[in-house]
Amino acid sequence: MRTSEQYLNSLFAMRKNIYLDGELIGRDDPRIVRASKAIQLTFDLAEDPKYKKWLVTTSHLTGKPINRFTHIHQSQEDLLMKQEMTRVLCNLVGGCIQRCMGIDMMNALSITTKNADIKYGTDYHQRFLKYLEYFQENDLVAAGGQTDPKGDRRLRPGEQPDPDQYVRVVERRPDGVVVCGAKLHNTMAPYANEIIVIPTRRLMKDEKDWAIAFAIPADAEGVYLIGRESRFAERAPGMEAPIAEFADVESFTVLDHVFVPNERIFINGETEFGGELALLFALYHRHSYCGCKPGMGDVLMGTTALLADYLGIEKMSHVREKLAEMVSVAELVFAAGIASAVKSKKAPSGTQIPDIIYANVGRRHAGHNIYHEYNILCDIAGGLPATLPLSKEYNHPVVGEFVKKYVTRREGVSPENHYRAFHLASDLLTSEMATVLGQIAGVHGGGSPIMEDIAVMSSYDMESKKNLAKYLAGIKE
Ligand SMILES: Cc1cc2nc3c(=O)[nH]c(=O)nc-3n(C[C@H](O)[C@H](O)[C@H](O)COP(=O)(O)OP(=O)(O)OC[C@H]3O[C@@H](n4cnc5c(N)ncnc54)[C@H](O)[C@@H]3O)c2cc1C
Repeated sequence: MRTSEQYLNSLFAMRKNIYLDGELIGRDDPRIVRASKAIQLTFDLAEDPKYKKWLVTTSHLTGKPINRFTHIHQSQEDLLMKQEMTRVLCNLVGGCIQRCMGIDMMNALSITTKNADIKYGTDYHQRFLKYLEYFQENDLVAAGGQTDPKGDRRLRPGEQPDPDQYVRVVERRPDGVVVCGAKLHNTMAPYANEIIVIPTRRLMKDEKDWAIAFAIPADAEGVYLIGRESRFAERAPGMEAPIAEFADVESFTVLDHVFVPNERIFINGETEFGGELALLFALYHRHSYCGCKPGMGDVLMGTTALLADYLGIEKMSHVREKLAEMVSVAELVFAAGIASAVKSKKAPSGTQIPDIIYANVGRRHAGHNIYHEYNILCDIAGGLPATLPLSKEYNHPVVGEFVKKYVTRREGVSPENHYRAFHLASDLLTSEMATVLGQIAGVHGGGSPIMEDIAVMSSYDMESKKNLAKYLAGIKE
């Protein structure tokens, strides 16, 4: 297992291929190091007795201790621990822990490579297990590249005027393939060691060139990471707050004639398994969301309750009702994740698969309520999060005392604590970080809302419900 220092050093040794704010930068750039803070925590806490039980587990492959973010779930207990870990870690960073995409992809690959081998006699699973050993041994961090640009939404990959709108094979060689295209909205790709690429949708039989799944080093030749940073408002000295340490860099990940050697290819032309992989990754990711969204809910409801307390309105009935609403959203989503783990089953590969219905209704409920949760915080906080002077003014020799005086609401709470609580609300309501990873990812991450409906309706046994209605109505056919 690596330390965060070893993780950072591995990033610093990589080729410069990140484009940010008009510059070509390396991973030693302070903006990348800052954004990698959440990932660093997943290494640091693996050494902390309080968090070890979540972060450290045993490899089913080698029997060695590994970081859970490199683990292939073997049991219900594994899925439950992953979900709980995600909630705990999201609490600590006040948002997204960022390391789940890679491991959700690895779990999906562990299943599909085996299923493809069973049907076609291929050797994808052996390749995958070799890669998994390397992944676990080196405690690697992987970004997940699933979402293609997709061009005209009405057209299938092969019908697009520009075929690169979906990542595809442009050349087949005896030793591997050359791919072109892009994966958009890649969280943490600029500070990942590896990028795992899988198809984004079900594929038709004639879409073999798009049925490609593989892993590449994030600095491989031909990979361009076009970044966008988001963060919280910077704090003046003396006013530091844990949440302000975290940031994010998203990436348009362009693959311009990237060579992928055979040993890193996990599906190549088996269209039905390209589609299966897309759905399985989404399933694991939606199960992860049943941990991270309640984690984010904890932060939002905690901030709402704290401000209500400081405003002196905590006991008011309309406030209690709104807090109860926030509790219900977070805990119902978490409960759906637990149900999904408890009702999970084993794939032929031995990997534990979350229950589709519970993971999807959990993620669906979270997505449908995300803006509602922010709305409640906004309601209870009043307008101050939008207009709060920043921390340099808080310490200013002329106006600082006015800021302290007029952010104060009730006796018994210091001006500084009032200010800090409102600043947190401001971080959560007005920062780019909250908009990107809290709100927009809260709706679209793991697939747009309609995708959960499709997953639910294609797996749910609605016929049995119709039959129930017929029975109760006395309908005999
Ligand atoms: C902050 C953030 C981080 C993310 N991180 C990652 C990541 O790390 N890796 C990754 O792979 N992805 C990531 N995603 C991508 C996420 O999964 C996608 O945003 C999501 O799947 C929606 O795809 P899209 O953005 O292309 O939107 P679109 O697919 O364009 O959706 C827009 C709207 O069009 C509708 N629509 C689209 N196609 C059709 C159609 N054919 N018929 C009818 N309606 C249609 C959708 O339902 C939706 O309402 C991230 C997204 C965000 C916002």
